[in-house]
Amino acid sequence: GRPAAEAYRHQHEITVTEDAPHPFTTFGSTGFPSVLLKEVQCAGFSAPTPIQAQSWPIALEGRDIVAVAKTGSGKTLGYIIPGFVHLKRLRNNSKIGPTVLVLSPTRELATQIQEEAQKFGRSSSISSVCLYGGAPKGPQLKELYRGVDIVIATPGRLNDFLEMKSVNLDQVSYLVLDEADRMLDMGFEPQIRKIVNAIPPRRQTLMFTATWPKEVRNIAADLLVNPVQVNIGNID
Ligand code: ADP
Ligand code: MG
Repeated sequence: GRPAAEAYRHQHEITVTEDAPHPFTTFGSTGFPSVLLKEVQCAGFSAPTPIQAQSWPIALEGRDIVAVAKTGSGKTLGYIIPGFVHLKRLRNNSKIGPTVLVLSPTRELATQIQEEAQKFGRSSSISSVCLYGGAPKGPQLKELYRGVDIVIATPGRLNDFLEMKSVNLDQVSYLVLDEADRMLDMGFEPQIRKIVNAIPPRRQTLMFTATWPKEVRNIAADLLVNPVQVNIGNID
């Protein structure tokens, strides 16, 4: 109930901007499919991290989220598992294009996200591709054309593929902007905006950031609709 939810938030320094759903303090309370719970158990995780506990119920309701949390807080599973649930609900044809899109600032981070997506999505037969610059386009396009549920991309390379008309984002309805502050610091705002313009407006958008400066607040105001804000710890 409410007192337990508030005690959990207090204990883990979680603040929410409005009357958000109660955090999932245990894996068992998430209602995730048992194959997924098994993966989490195999990974040796004992409980959701605070960002996962609070983001999961909000994301599963289909709400937009902006989450401000430090590195190492478990944000990847915080957005990728509700992304899996979203995929299973929609059952889109992956041959047409991806349903879930994750934008990430660097090749290294994008690769780590894909590793997590593959590890936890394997038993649900969810497919993904990682698109980043500084590598030949051919092999990435080949994977893309095989059909994928999830694209994890740096904004530069994905924008190149959009301009080449090599990728179709018409089915994207779950968009994640991971490390949004860092993507803006790297000058990716124009590419992010072009990518978002290629996605139908009826979508769920989740933004994750370690800091909350004016530039991030501005792009959040433009790209998110009535978001719930979740902060973990003291925000800058
Ligand atoms: P962030 O994106 O916030 O920097 P990551 O999503 O990369 O954090 O997660 C950091 C590490 O914590 C990863 O190795 C990940 O596998 C691990 N992790 C994620 N969720 C949990 C959990 N519930 N319990 C323990 N470890 C977790
Ligand atoms: Mg991360």
